[in-house]
Amino acid sequence: MSFKDLQLNKPLLRAIAESGYEEPTLVQENTIPFVLDKKDVITSAQTGTGKTAAFALPILQMLFDYQDAPKKGKKIKALVVSPTRELAVQIAANFKTYGKYTNLKSAVVFGGTSIEPQKDILKKGVDILIATPGRLLDLHKQDLIHLDFIDIFVLDEADLMLDMGFIDDVKKIERLCPETKQTLLFSATIPYKVEQLANTILNDPERIEVAPNASTSKNVNQALYYVPKKNKIELCLHLLRNTIKGSIIIFRRTKFGVDKLEKTLLNNGYLVDSIHGDKTQSERQKALVDFKRKKVNILVATDVAARGIDIDNLDAVINFDMPNVPETFVHRIGRTARAGNKGAAYSFCSADEKRYVKSIQQLINLQLDVIDDHPYPLDPKAKAIVHKSKTPKSKHKKGRKSEASKKKKKRWY
Ligand code: AMP
Repeated sequence: MSFKDLQLNKPLLRAIAESGYEEPTLVQENTIPFVLDKKDVITSAQTGTGKTAAFALPILQMLFDYQDAPKKGKKIKALVVSPTRELAVQIAANFKTYGKYTNLKSAVVFGGTSIEPQKDILKKGVDILIATPGRLLDLHKQDLIHLDFIDIFVLDEADLMLDMGFIDDVKKIERLCPETKQTLLFSATIPYKVEQLANTILNDPERIEVAPNASTSKNVNQALYYVPKKNKIELCLHLLRNTIKGSIIIFRRTKFGVDKLEKTLLNNGYLVDSIHGDKTQSERQKALVDFKRKKVNILVATDVAARGIDIDNLDAVINFDMPNVPETFVHRIGRTARAGNKGAAYSFCSADEKRYVKSIQQLINLQLDVIDDHPYPLDPKAKAIVHKSKTPKSKHKKGRKSEASKKKKKRWY
């Protein structure tokens, strides 16, 4: 199938050709006709499958075709809500690329940066708005965003959105849009809570499942290293010296872990940057740009900070810590071998992480290749160390919450 077969108009076909896309990806082929047909859609697709264009192209087409509707002149007509700032910026960049030869205006708003420039852009009027939930509601409260004329509402990375605790915000935003709108929901996986949300906000949706819920790309070579926790850094340095080359993302579970590993790699002469939830927006943006431009070749990241980010030609992913949620493994591996390229994934598993391997393998329905031939093997008899809580019972008396527990729980990612 070609993009022409999808009935896309000339300005879009021209931009698509300039992007070097020869044919639609599976998710595009399956989603675009339904969106153009004004159907609600729930699409489950891995990152890297081209899902952004699967909603951006038909949205641009529909708005382009109807842009003369006079009453909607400067109103926002399409709203895309994204859980992270990086993803929002990336989606906005895609809208700009694909909409290059239309006169439609798109803009992005997200938290963590000054609100003033965003206000100025909104005042000039935009057709398509891409936003993170908090900043969107903030601007709405200040009467700077009106959602009364939204024709199309897109919820991207819905599973992450819910994992990040945005469920109430999402419902609030959805209710601010007209009931008649068309809603498109995209999610890497469709766990029960996403299904529940879909049932409340979608109207008789078309279901599109491009890859099985838990598949990892076939183009990724998967290697599993059993290694004592204390030797993970040495193993990482050993592999970076001898085996793993090119652009690499290393995942750690915590911000502390990310900072620690970044420092060690810098001390060993590697060009490294990092992203996690404690970094400012401009630091995160700079790290990504430097990584994409290959000024640094290693990016150390927590899962949430890295989710959905599109990086061309990523050569390898290292799971320095095994993810304790199996779906996270799928998302991490989705960073490499995007858009048909080859990639590799290296997972480091210590004794106390062995229990995660089983559920990951079950989920992806694949045995990871165990690499025994390395200098820091884990004693197969090594047992997980269970840390027992040392908190004295008296501190947990019923009805008496400590000051620390009263404080809002701080995110560790
Ligand atoms: P996404 O899943 O939207 O993050 O897209 C992943 C990557 O695939 C991005 O770099 C897109 O530019 C690229 N892409 C999207 N659609 C196509 C296509 N039809 N042909 C080739 N590459 C594409």
